[in-house]
Amino acid sequence: FAGQGEPGAICYFNKAESESISENLKIESSLRGALENNEFSLLYQPIVNLEDAKLAGVEALLRWHNKELGSVPPDKFIPIAERNGLIVAIGRWVQQEVCRQIKCWSTQNSWALPVAINVAAAELLQPEFSTNLIQRMEADGIAPELLWVEVTEFSLASDSPTVDENLALLSKAQIRVHIDDFGTGYSSLSYLQRMPISSLKIDRSFINGLPHNNQELALTRSILSMSSDLGLATVAEGIENRQQYDFLRDSGCKMGQGFLLARPLQASEIEGLRDRSLI
Ligand code: C2E
Ligand code: MG
Ligand code: MG
Ligand code: MG
Repeated sequence: FAGQGEPGAICYFNKAESESISENLKIESSLRGALENNEFSLLYQPIVNLEDAKLAGVEALLRWHNKELGSVPPDKFIPIAERNGLIVAIGRWVQQEVCRQIKCWSTQNSWALPVAINVAAAELLQPEFSTNLIQRMEADGIAPELLWVEVTEFSLASDSPTVDENLALLSKAQIRVHIDDFGTGYSSLSYLQRMPISSLKIDRSFINGLPHNNQELALTRSILSMSSDLGLATVAEGIENRQQYDFLRDSGCKMGQGFLLARPLQASEIEGLRDRSLI
């Protein structure tokens, strides 16, 4: 296996590529035992009302700690779990854990705090996805407004009747669906008409350059005005400074999330933020 760029060498993968392939194989094999070995946990990132910077809800974010690999970020292992189908079992664990947490907050703390879960395309393609989720919520006595479902544009663009049926079931059960990373996916917006969506989460890449980058400013403004014309709520992701916060609030964005307000936290830390302004 000759070195990279050596004249006349036949090189199938460069070093970085072969390292990432073997890393992915390691992740894949360790991921298979992760549920059994209790290696997953959830953190919760505050989503605030921009008007008063108080909690409107939290987003559940998956964390994986493996003995050999250490902490592996979701952007690394979730795409792998999507490809090999493990995401379905992992997603069920997330639902179970989130329902337990919502139940705990609403019964022990009399606190009706909505929790958003991230749902991958492969999960929405399961015919029983919504039925299972609704049954679990009913069994745990969880009101539909306390669990929000985040899906990506990519899932909605799949043109699959199963996805449509799952979304219709969620809508019928009055479970709100938010479009995650809005603006990064497909260019066709026709699904906004067809699908029962209640909110758009503006991707952090649009928020980054606010309020000085003219392009990002124009894009954010048009997403906000389209969203309001369609009667949808908006959540801005990745708010990292006060200028971004003020601009978004003054432009009519209702909710926001980002490191300026809070990082993803343990459930117990969330309890300390109740009724408090996060800025
Ligand atoms: P996402 O759903 O868009 O989640 C927001 C991500 O942005 C989180 O990364 C969060 O920590 C990060 N973030 C929040 N505020 C800021 C900020 O101000 N600045 C910056 N730079 N980043 C910020 P995280 O936790 O690493 O998750 C990455 C992605 O992994 C998520 O993106 C989501 O797509 C996926 N994911 C996480 N948990 C789950 C899960 O339970 N199921 C599924 N299917 N996907 C999940
Ligand atoms: Mg999300
Ligand atoms: Mg997002
Ligand atoms: Mg994302």
